[in-house]
Amino acid sequence: MKPPPFHYHAPSTLDDALATLAEAANAKVLAGGQSLIPLLNMRLAAPAHLVDVNRVAGLSAIESGERGVRVGALARHSAVERDARAAAVQPLIGQALRHVAHPVIRNRGTAVGSLAHADPAAELPAVLAVLGGEVEAASARGRRTIAAADFFAGPLESALDPDEMAVAAFFPASPPRTGSAFLEAARRHGDYALAGVAALVTLDEDLRVSGARAGFLGVGPVPLLVDLAEPAAAAQAGRPPGTLDWSGAAAYVREHVDPETDIHATAAYRRHLSGVLAERALHAATTAALQEVQ
Ligand code: FAD
Repeated sequence: MKPPPFHYHAPSTLDDALATLAEAANAKVLAGGQSLIPLLNMRLAAPAHLVDVNRVAGLSAIESGERGVRVGALARHSAVERDARAAAVQPLIGQALRHVAHPVIRNRGTAVGSLAHADPAAELPAVLAVLGGEVEAASARGRRTIAAADFFAGPLESALDPDEMAVAAFFPASPPRTGSAFLEAARRHGDYALAGVAALVTLDEDLRVSGARAGFLGVGPVPLLVDLAEPAAAAQAGRPPGTLDWSGAAAYVREHVDPETDIHATAAYRRHLSGVLAERALHAATTAALQEVQ
């Protein structure tokens, strides 16, 4: 299929890109094109203007510091995945990126584009949500920061206004003694997941759980956050510090997710899967937290 006709813009500065977005009605930003181009070719989207931001300088940076990792709008998935400093500051990003599509797609697709695309089955929105990250938005009107909790509005719908561009995303670092894990189940490696989970477990100095939460993908219209304080208390009740038994977490998670049936899987299967994945991810995250302490 060929895409419907559109006006193509290739600004070389951010100001020009934002001016075009302000002037052009029904415009879309083109980043890696790994989601937008298929949508155009299948005629599922028909923007009047495409603003190709690939020539805009200064948007590819990946900056890691004590507070977290800031990923620029043109940083490709593969660049973020290979960034050793980002992996040290927030390992969950790389743990999730390994599951995004295939290497060829990761070489071109952008991490921020994945957030802006807001696919409920995508990995990075769940990661941003569970970490409590932010998206930095810019328009000709100014800049604003949008918390992950407010950013994902529905399937393929973000809080960005039509004249806004996401210029970066910020993934906060986790507190000390925190372990993370990302698990998903897909029909084939690289496919969008049937369900997946990003889990974080934080231990206190006595190796008791001080925080546990999970972000789920594929089980609702937006990433679903589940606080796991209750199953965490059960996991350590009557046990020596650092020896958690998360076997009750699966049932708790199944009560808190509300997936839908589609052509890929039934709601009941997704609910079951969410519990299995969460229990395994919590074990793995606990092991990672204990390794950090040692
Ligand atoms: P584009 O395709 O350029 O844009 C996607 C959407 O986001 C468009 O609406 C565009 O206007 C908007 N957008 C992009 N950047 C910005 C910005 N900076 N500001 C405002 N709006 C913006 N993704 C997964 O997460 N998991 C998978 O398992 C997965 N599997 C895939 C398998 C295949 C075969 C393919 C082709 C893609 C797959 N993807 C998957 C999608 C891939 O990760 C995309 O790269 C990503 O979703 C979008 O990034 P992009 O840079 O390519 O964005």
